[in-house]
Amino acid sequence: MNSVRCLGRDALTGEVSIIEFGPTIAAVQRRAVEPAETWLAPGFIDLQINGFAGVDYNDPRSLPEDILASIRNLFSTGVTRLFPTVITAAPEDMLLAVRNLAKAREMGPEGKAIAGIHLEGPYISAEDGPRGAHPARWVRPPDLDEFRRLQEAAGGLIRLVTLAPEWPQALAFIEALTAAGVTVAIGHTAADGARIAEAVRAGASLSTHLGNGAHPLLPRHPNYIWEQLAEDRLTAGFIVDGIHLPSCFLKVALRAKGLDRSFLVTDATAPANCQPGRYRLGQQEVELTADGRVVLAGQNRLAGSALRMDRGIENLMELAGLSLSQAVAMATVNPARAVQLPGRQRGLEAGELGDVVEFTLVGSPARLRVRRTWLAGALVYEA
Ligand SMILES: [Zn+2]
Repeated sequence: MNSVRCLGRDALTGEVSIIEFGPTIAAVQRRAVEPAETWLAPGFIDLQINGFAGVDYNDPRSLPEDILASIRNLFSTGVTRLFPTVITAAPEDMLLAVRNLAKAREMGPEGKAIAGIHLEGPYISAEDGPRGAHPARWVRPPDLDEFRRLQEAAGGLIRLVTLAPEWPQALAFIEALTAAGVTVAIGHTAADGARIAEAVRAGASLSTHLGNGAHPLLPRHPNYIWEQLAEDRLTAGFIVDGIHLPSCFLKVALRAKGLDRSFLVTDATAPANCQPGRYRLGQQEVELTADGRVVLAGQNRLAGSALRMDRGIENLMELAGLSLSQAVAMATVNPARAVQLPGRQRGLEAGELGDVVEFTLVGSPARLRVRRTWLAGALVYEA
């Protein structure tokens, strides 16, 4: 493979840079010249994405070819690595879903973008509110035997598990997973502060979409959102689509966590990057509304988002007042560090993977226009 040479401003550092890369970054030269209009960043990383461009990663009928087609579409948003996310469902459906994702990873060069699988559930709270849109009938307590079957079907690709630590079995389960190198996130939970602290001691290190998957009404204090905000050993993911979280919560949460302990996720579902209308998500019918909400059909309850990572970066600047560098960090190095993704934790530096996105920023509020995306040195999208 010929190496690629790009000139632009490094979105993380602001420096004008010439980057030479193939599968990995070979050299980076910093130049003291006029700022270029072109921005360069590491490819975006989405640790929570349930589907995209009409393909539902949870549907056992989604073929590996369909999954790869959705990933090709995703490259247009600057994403180069993702954790397809499989949520609470019947045991056999979850097995088929992770098996299809593992097959997709082996099938085409773009399959390499699947850096892991995020298992969100089924070991979550059964309560209305924290359960979110997960189907109540399939919520169940943590079961290490079932997890091992899922991990085997996934070929070892499950790298992140979201669970509710209030299940009696949860602490031993967290210890076993973290000992096996799987990152554990607290989410869809109604746990009290003592239990959250125990989960952290057992090895849980993340909070899944903090501020969502919660009761609509909570005691002002204490409650599990404050507890997780205050726990410095938890790094938190946030859905920044302008719908799931109001700007005031987002600002306060990012200040409480600190940006280094925060990352952006889309929590996108199959209708993302599609036209408004009705779509099927597993057993449920959902509607993508004209203003970009994904709701259970006929109801107002959110069932995921239609967010794209590039729009999420714009939203972080617009809604939370972050700089481009801060917002891009939340979409690149921060999620990479949160799950210890190799080759992606240091930004655009020699030795890191050749995952690069080239973009421009236009207008006010700034709009991010992806021009080219490379996955490990291979051009996978050009506008
Ligand atoms: Zn969720």
